[in-house]
Amino acid sequence: MKLSQNYRELDARYYMPAFSRAIEIVRGKGAHVWDADGKEYIDCVAGIAVCSTGHCHPAVVEAICSQAQDLIHCSNLYYVPHQAELAEKVVEISGFKNGKAFFSNSGAEANEGALKLARLATGRKKFVSFTHSFHGRTLGSLAVTFKPNIREPFEPLEPACTFVEYGDLDALEKAVDADTAGVIVEAIQGEAGVIPAPDGFLEGIRDVCDRKGALMIVDEVQTGMGRTGKWFAFQHTKAVPDIVTIAKGIASGFPMGALVAREGLEFKKSEHGSTFAGGPLACAAARATIGVIEGLLPSIPEKSDRFARGLAAHNPRVHGLMIGFTLGERCPAVQAYCAEHSVLINCAADGNIRLVPPLVISDEEIDTAVGVINAALR
Ligand SMILES: *Cc1c(COP(=O)(O)O)cnc(C)c1O
Repeated sequence: MKLSQNYRELDARYYMPAFSRAIEIVRGKGAHVWDADGKEYIDCVAGIAVCSTGHCHPAVVEAICSQAQDLIHCSNLYYVPHQAELAEKVVEISGFKNGKAFFSNSGAEANEGALKLARLATGRKKFVSFTHSFHGRTLGSLAVTFKPNIREPFEPLEPACTFVEYGDLDALEKAVDADTAGVIVEAIQGEAGVIPAPDGFLEGIRDVCDRKGALMIVDEVQTGMGRTGKWFAFQHTKAVPDIVTIAKGIASGFPMGALVAREGLEFKKSEHGSTFAGGPLACAAARATIGVIEGLLPSIPEKSDRFARGLAAHNPRVHGLMIGFTLGERCPAVQAYCAEHSVLINCAADGNIRLVPPLVISDEEIDTAVGVINAALR
């Protein structure tokens, strides 16, 4: 289908102005994308940590195209091709022995599922979340999302949620009570600007949850699927959650999310469902994606070090290929300079630059991107 030349006017006239954007990206290959004018960029945004295997990885394209020839949709009323195989793989990489998976179409929806499962399993109502957290835009996931300007216009929200300072275990101890179903936490806060949990924090949450009978939900929507050099960021710690939620990088850009729960935690008949979730195309794309990431995982520490060395002057927070540094008010100007010089980077919250490039990014592409970022900061 042909694209219109006057897309800016069409967008302004017909699409709700919920985003601010400047570039139309029309093509991608590996860590590169091209805009409507044919300009090429190194993409250190990757659809916000989504295009994990790079743009249009041949294995993912092949999996989607070949599944599309066979069956695009059939409903969860039937066994879905690739779904059980993918569930086995996702449970295996999560490390949950005898765990089970449930698929969704997005990160927010994966978190909704986790909140529902925690309520079912505990018979309790409330949740505890953390300052600067982001868990999604649906009403439930928004209720446990901190950022006041995106949450408050929609209040009152359910479930009731108490926000505790990220990193403060004493405050957590006080906040978790006999009606707390779960504590939801990002191992590294992504939207906040790549803010890692302090050492021992996840282990401390595990301990509080164990003593008080609440479930520990780790939101790995952004940090998961190899982004930090392990399948999941919690695997860098000694803490094992009850539920882990996944989305962004799981299917290379095909919409998909998942939750994985430890043994014994599961939705029984009719307790949860979805028309589209875990469909044949999504599952095929995710299986191919996981196969590609398996091969890439060993290369991530070295690429990570390369970014860390290149950006050392800016005190970067480097966790695999999830990189943040604080610039304050200069962020938008630096982002614009980099785009002008063919490198896409992203301003996350609070004056933080975030880089979440495709895991396939090469040494040469890293050096080029770092060079442009450093020039922007000079
Ligand atoms: C992006 C994100 C979400 C929301 O995912 P959607 O697919 O946009 O609903 C939830 N949690 C975290 C940590 C995220 O980064």
